[in-house]
Parts: sequence; C-alpha cells; structure tokens
Amino acid sequence: MRKSFFEELNSGIDSGVAYKNLNLKKSIISFLSRNKNVTIPDLSKELNLSVPKVTNIINDLIEDGLVRDNGKITSNGGRRPSIYGLEPESGFFLGIDVKKNYLNLGIMDFQNNIIKITENHPYELSNDKASLDELCTIISRFIGKLPIPREKILGIGINLSGRVNYATGYSYSFFNFQEDPLSKIIENYIGIPVYLENDSRAMAYGEFTHGIVKDEKNVLFLNLDYGLGMGIMIDQEIYYGKSGFAGEFGHIPLFDNDIICNCGKKGCLETEASGWALVEMFKKEIQNGTTTALDNEAGTPIILENIIKAALNDDVLAIELVAKVGSHLGKAISILINIFNPELVILGGALAETGDYLRLPILSAINKYSLSRVNSDTAIKISKLGNKVGVIGSCLLVRNRLLSIS
Ligand SMILES: [Zn+2]
Repeated sequence: MRKSFFEELNSGIDSGVAYKNLNLKKSIISFLSRNKNVTIPDLSKELNLSVPKVTNIINDLIEDGLVRDNGKITSNGGRRPSIYGLEPESGFFLGIDVKKNYLNLGIMDFQNNIIKITENHPYELSNDKASLDELCTIISRFIGKLPIPREKILGIGINLSGRVNYATGYSYSFFNFQEDPLSKIIENYIGIPVYLENDSRAMAYGEFTHGIVKDEKNVLFLNLDYGLGMGIMIDQEIYYGKSGFAGEFGHIPLFDNDIICNCGKKGCLETEASGWALVEMFKKEIQNGTTTALDNEAGTPIILENIIKAALNDDVLAIELVAKVGSHLGKAISILINIFNPELVILGGALAETGDYLRLPILSAINKYSLSRVNSDTAIKISKLGNKVGVIGSCLLVRNRLLSIS
C-alpha cells in the first residue's frame, strides 16, 4: 500500500525512488504555499518535470488530503486546465510569542491563512516552574477553545527570548532546570509536537516573508523590546550561526559603564539602549523630581508598555528618553551597517511602536557614525506586522520544520 506524505516524511528514508518522490512532494507543497492557484503545466515548468509525473504526484497529494482541485481556469476557449491549491484545513500550526508581560497566540492553516490571533494575553515570564506551568496551561486552554479538532494541529512553535537552540529544543535563558529539552517537556504536557525558536528570529521570519520586505535579500530585523535581539537575513536565508545564537545584538559591549546587564556582564548595549534601560532611566528621572503624565496617573506601573503609551500621548519625559535610547541604538546600528551593508534594517518589537520618536534619533546617529557610502544603501523602516509578527513567524517556522520545506 502507498504510504501517505506524512508517513513517508516520518519514515526516515534518505535514498531511492521513494525519497526522490518525497522531495518532489515537498517542492510542490512549498510552491503551492507561495502560489495559490496553480495548473499542472505551471508546476511542470517550475519544477522541470514531465506533465504525467506532476499529475501523478498531485493525485497522491489529493488522496492524502493535502491538495485540492479548485476547478477550471477561466479562459477564452481551448481546453481549460484545472487549478490546484493546498487544502487549507488539512493541518494547522500554532504559534506562541512569549513576551515579558504577556503572550500572543495564533493559529495558521495549511494555506498560511491566520485563523485566529489572541494578542496581549496576560502572563508574567519569570524563570521558575510556576511560570512554565502557567504557559502550558494557557496554551492548552487556547487549543481547547479553537473550532478545530486537536489532532489537526500538527505542531506548536514557541518563541522565547535569549539563547535558544532551535535544533535541540533547549532554552538556556529561561526554564532550563530540567535534564530534558524544554520543547520535550512542553510537548509531553500538551501532547502535540513543540518546537522552540528565538523570539527575534521568529519575528524576523514573519516580517521577511509576510511583512515589509519585498525584493530585498540582505535584511536585519531588530527586536527592540525589554531586551534587544536581531534576526539576520543573508541572500534571502535566515542566518542562525553554529548553535542558533547569532544576533545577540543587545550584548555588544558598547559602553564603558558599571551597569550589570541581564547577561551578567557590564557595559552591554542593552544597559543603555533597550526597553529595560528606558524603564530604569524613567524611574530615576521620577525620583529626581521630573514631572510626567505617567507619574500623575495613580496606580499606573512604570513598565515599558506604559512608557510607550505615554510617549504616544505626548509625554515630554517619555519622548526625551525614547530619543536618548534611539540615539544609542543608532550608534549600534551604524556598526551593523558597516559590517553587513544591508538593504534594509527593520525596527520591530514594542519600542518600535513609538515610530518616528525612535526612528529619527536613530537616523541622525547613523548619519553621524556610519560610513556615508555604506549607509546610503540602507533603508530604515518600522515593522509592518507590529505585535503580530512573532506569532506569524512562529507558525510559518513550525510549518517549515514539520514539512521540511522552506
Ligand atoms: Zn549583556
């Protein structure tokens, strides 16, 4: 009996005709996920295969429930070919973007349509078992409320900040208190395959594939949140480094100060140009007697989200401190521009919501510090997908890993 696509994928074959066919199926699924209505002659041309060969593979994928016949193409006479697309409901991918004070959760179908996104679900990320249990409970409840049978969810992607080895499923910055990889522990709790990813890289992937990136091939995505992370795209490929730790932008030792960073070292960029540096500066200014609208609102905690809101509501202190962070960031981005010569640097993460309050001081520092011939190649833009970018990237990366496609 013929094995289904997923049976073949999980059978570990790595040579022979079956292996070659499996790779053709992956190429077709990958092409259909980027192009919605495709004819067999289109596929035959794209993959350089004969029409009968493509027809056979498409028939197998239809039998597996992964591809469907979307009817005939409209044309002005002649034989009208059928058009094919992925079967949206054949499988779903869950994406979880873990932030410091909340979670974003979302689900995507087999055709890359986002079915549902829940933003800003209350959650406190702290490095202890209770916080991990709470994370598992929230994910389980989210799944329980979805109008989708549980067995149709093929995998869950979880974005965490800090050092995450996406290949082994170990997280070294959060929840690293068991022997097993964190992905396994959450998977055992929920009962669906789990994949971990560094949050900035998942966000970058979402923005590269579904956001502001058009034809650019060399792009940096900066995740400007409490900490600072970076996703790197080189020649249209995500760059991971040896263990997936590439992009630790926040820990460039740029300052000669005595502020201890979250990583334990002194003088990191994060100590003066990040969300948590902004919160610390803000608190200090209030202690020194500077007035702010945020301080006057009784009971409003001094957290990053509230400082961003204050800046957007024209609070002078918030705007001034965002600008200060921006000018430090601009200096650091100059280093990146000189090294990477990127076409585009995307400002993402919570701090990017302050828009030009952050972007203009960044541009001014870049003009001051980077080489002019180099920086004229680089556009600096704000993320298009905003707070949703991490969930979208996470769903897509899980899909890629489960189907082993790109
Ligand atoms: Zn550091």
